[in-house]
Amino acid sequence: MQRRTKIVATIGPASERPETLKKMIEAGLDVARLNFSHGSADEHRARAVALRDAAAACGREIGLMGDLQGPKIRVRRFRDRSVDLKDGQAFFLDSTLGMEDGSIDGVGVALETLHEDVMPGDTLLLNDGMITLSVDSIDGTRIHTTVVNGGILSDHKGINKKGGGLSAPALTEIDRENIKLAAELEMDFLAVSFVRSGEDVLEARRLFEEAGGTGRIVAKVERVEAVDNIESIIDAADIVMVARGDLGVEMGYAQLTGIQKKLIRMTRKKSKIVITATQMMESMIQNPIPTRAEVSDVANAVMDGTDAVMLSGETAVGKYPVRAIREMAEVCEGAEQFPLPEGMTRHRIGDYFHRIDEAIAMAVMYTANHLDVEAIIALTESGSTALWMSRIRSDIPIFAFTPHLGTCRRVTMYRGVFPVHHDSSTTVSRERYQEVFDMMLDKGHVKVGDRVIFTKGDQEGVTGGTNAMKIVEVTARQ
Ligand code: PGA
Ligand code: MN
Repeated sequence: MQRRTKIVATIGPASERPETLKKMIEAGLDVARLNFSHGSADEHRARAVALRDAAAACGREIGLMGDLQGPKIRVRRFRDRSVDLKDGQAFFLDSTLGMEDGSIDGVGVALETLHEDVMPGDTLLLNDGMITLSVDSIDGTRIHTTVVNGGILSDHKGINKKGGGLSAPALTEIDRENIKLAAELEMDFLAVSFVRSGEDVLEARRLFEEAGGTGRIVAKVERVEAVDNIESIIDAADIVMVARGDLGVEMGYAQLTGIQKKLIRMTRKKSKIVITATQMMESMIQNPIPTRAEVSDVANAVMDGTDAVMLSGETAVGKYPVRAIREMAEVCEGAEQFPLPEGMTRHRIGDYFHRIDEAIAMAVMYTANHLDVEAIIALTESGSTALWMSRIRSDIPIFAFTPHLGTCRRVTMYRGVFPVHHDSSTTVSRERYQEVFDMMLDKGHVKVGDRVIFTKGDQEGVTGGTNAMKIVEVTARQ
């Protein structure tokens, strides 16, 4: 059985070497993430090229995702790089303080309007929630607080407000530059950080398309506001990321697991793709094996029905980038032995369909789950038939045969869908079936006599043209 859940991993200093990238691909990498929060444009260019070269050398299609840094609100710098905050002491935040004038008394912040967004009694969380400040009073731009949980606070650490409500717009000037870079590098996915609504997602999509980008848009759900506006965000996006790092800090950890399950369920229900991200195997930054809790976390996301699981620091800066992928692949495979929630076979059973290709996709899955079938072969232009099929719970692999490299790389994110680059058309004659069988036989995906289902259209090169399914037995090479 092939692993169905996809693995996204961040490329950074620990993983950018060609040899490491090749090993990561062999270990099971499906989509590489470049994080625009770190590194220069030229570093990203070099990593994109290295990744595509490694993929070609391995004969695999690997998706490439650019992740915008977004309006992450950060403290400015300290005179001595860091301070050690004590519980109960006073500490202020002030956007007008000098850039490098932070001290044990207070520090600058990179959001001019922060003082307008907080009130006495609010809780501010710094450094991913490690440090907690309680707001006492606001005096002009200066926010006076008491340290509730102290610790070391160093330059540029992030700030979140518990419960959300910081008003920074989703796309900064730097993001706008990086959107152009993502288009230039022909990224397959563009992840948009700290979106508040569907509007923010549409704005990023518009800018990306204007810059010539053709990839899919990933909305990162990491703000309380995003959870409140989740319907419009899912509708506007192609893919949703459960960005548990910032989301966990803003929502509080106790609700996070429930929210993850809800986001995965809602996204799948709307026939979109979902990624579960952050700290999945965090301890592997230092250690060669994950903790039991991490194993359980990855397995649970798989059982929730996530399309992809993501590695961040584990592969970007960790000691074991290749092993982290190998461990993750193994845990996914183990978890896939157990069934997904019941509802997913009944996905859209009461729905009325509006498109012919959509109706075919649903008919295929109903058939595949009620007949002995080894594989589904979708001859597809855009990959949308494969997307619809993959929303239904099934153990049967879906092979997306497509002449378009973009489609190949896009379906790398879809659970249970495997790309095959094949310059056939979506129309198929008797000889062309055999060509597809030969490829499937060579790769060991099927045996002679296996039953498979094809989906196809009548016209070449027409997106959304799938209008037929055909059930056939694999015949031997002529
Ligand atoms: P980040 O986003 O890694 O870019 O911060 C993911 C998260 O917040 O979980
Ligand atoms: Mn984040």
